[in-house]
Amino acid sequence: MPTIFSRIAKGEIPSYKIAEDNRFYAFLDINPLAKGHTLVIPKVEVDYIFDLDPETLAGLTLFAQRVAKAIERVIPCKRIGVAVLGLEVPHAHIHLVPLNRESDIDFHKPKLKLTEKEFNEIAQKIAAEFK
Ligand code: AMP
Repeated sequence: MPTIFSRIAKGEIPSYKIAEDNRFYAFLDINPLAKGHTLVIPKVEVDYIFDLDPETLAGLTLFAQRVAKAIERVIPCKRIGVAVLGLEVPHAHIHLVPLNRESDIDFHKPKLKLTEKEFNEIAQKIAAEFK
């Protein structure tokens, strides 16, 4: 069974896409801690991020850097926080969360409720800044 994130990367399940190349895919987290909260995944299906082959892990990090720079250009924040949990979805992913204070990356916090229009607008703006 493919993971939900594999199905998202293949376009079988909709997502608010930010960017992709042949190896990586970035999209908005559907339960965001902050506006612009993004997930970055490798297309290869590996559960635990530190089980990725070193070259893919390095590529994922570099791809996440480019996504973070795009988020910074759109979402006012002090910096982009990085988290790796993977307790819910067994497909390696990096959370990128715009931060103004430490509590902005507290995963116990109630998640933001955004409309589809808001998600689309945020995704389109960040996607336009991806270089
Ligand atoms: P974790 O595996 O603990 O890092 O959590 C998985 C994250 O994926 C959570 O923040 C979820 O909100 C997010 N998530 C789960 N399903 C989707 C989906 N279909 N689209 C976007 N984000 C998702």
